[in-house]
Amino acid sequence: MHSQHDKKEVRRIAKERIEILFSLAEKYAKTMPERAKRYIELAIKIGMRCNVPIPKNLKRRFCKRCHAFLIPGLNCRVRTRKDKQAVVVKCLECGNIMRYPYIKEKKNK
Ligand SMILES: [Zn+2]
Repeated sequence: MHSQHDKKEVRRIAKERIEILFSLAEKYAKTMPERAKRYIELAIKIGMRCNVPIPKNLKRRFCKRCHAFLIPGLNCRVRTRKDKQAVVVKCLECGNIMRYPYIKEKKNK
């Protein structure tokens, strides 16, 4: 039996672990890309299991298809489409193309 408080605690820890895994992935992205991929996959698993979404700023840092940690100029290409207010990211590892809207300024916080 878990109380509401425990659930919150579990999610808080999960979020922390996701952030740690992403920083590790970033650290190894250049030298050990396969290892970085495993960190990303682990972070996604933790997020799904604990019902914690991957933070928005981190969501854009990896490929949705092959889970590679993306570094512009190394394994991805980033283009901004001003006319469509979008950022287009192409993963050079698997060729996957992801489109994101521009990050809007947070006004409600
Ligand atoms: Zn990819």
